[in-house]
Amino acid sequence: MKIVETIAEVKSIVRAWKKSDASIGFVPTMGYLHEGHLSLIQRARQENDRVVVSIFVNPTQFGANEDLDSYPRDLQHDAALCENAGVDLIFHPTLEQMYPKGFCSFVDVDVLTKELCGLSRPVHFRGVCTVVSKLFHIITPDRAYFGEKDAQQLAVIKRMVQDLNMDVDVIGCPIVRETDGLAKSSRNTYLSPEERKAALVLSRSITQGKKYVQQGEKNAHTLVQAMTEIIEKEPLAKIDYVKVVDLFTMQQIDTLDRPFLAAMAVYIEKTRLIDNFIVGGENV
Ligand code: AMP
Repeated sequence: MKIVETIAEVKSIVRAWKKSDASIGFVPTMGYLHEGHLSLIQRARQENDRVVVSIFVNPTQFGANEDLDSYPRDLQHDAALCENAGVDLIFHPTLEQMYPKGFCSFVDVDVLTKELCGLSRPVHFRGVCTVVSKLFHIITPDRAYFGEKDAQQLAVIKRMVQDLNMDVDVIGCPIVRETDGLAKSSRNTYLSPEERKAALVLSRSITQGKKYVQQGEKNAHTLVQAMTEIIEKEPLAKIDYVKVVDLFTMQQIDTLDRPFLAAMAVYIEKTRLIDNFIVGGENV
């Protein structure tokens, strides 16, 4: 496994792979890898001749008062996990490689980014789409793997790829959870033991929400209300949003009569966590 920092090196490696017709699977990450990331890497490993993982804490997707500086980083540990998972190449670019002086071009997906996380993180998806576009151009993957943990991100990237005629298959992978239900996240490391316990309110609300849907609930507002009430019982939790949206447009719906996403963002003290469930999508 190679670890490279420059775009020129990645391009030359990819050029050699393409000469021998090797297919490339790509998993973009911000590092501090866990089993959620590994599930994407494993899928990429199964479906492609070569696997590239990028590790880059992308500053343009963080708002001014967010956790860019404190975001956890451990390249050595990440590299060991990747090596073990059969990754061929880690792309770990420097800031200067990705955003050289004078950089001023951005990719902005409309409509889908105006709901859910886009409301509380107004610059987030512009940063995500810009960096993912750059990475797609540099790595030219056949397939790219994204987690349903960030379901809005997955929908936005799929839209971007379709709208801008990018030649890559975007593949969504199911949420990986801790044994007690908490969705795995690099940000879980911010939680104190007491907050870690309180954070279970997200997955409890998700499980309950799924149950209501299985029992035949058709009213989106009733579903949101039921899920909200569970979170409100936890004193350390503060809701950013709990919403039900159309899976493809990310617009709020009243009736559960099409593929949908039930999503939430909840602060556990200072840590903002997200969770969701999808009904009627590819993996359900
Ligand atoms: P991040 O490093 O947080 O930007 O995540 C990189 C990729 O891993 C994204 O596509 C995420 O959706 C995915 N991911 C993160 N956590 C999980 C999880 N618990 N289960 C599945 N995929 C995940």
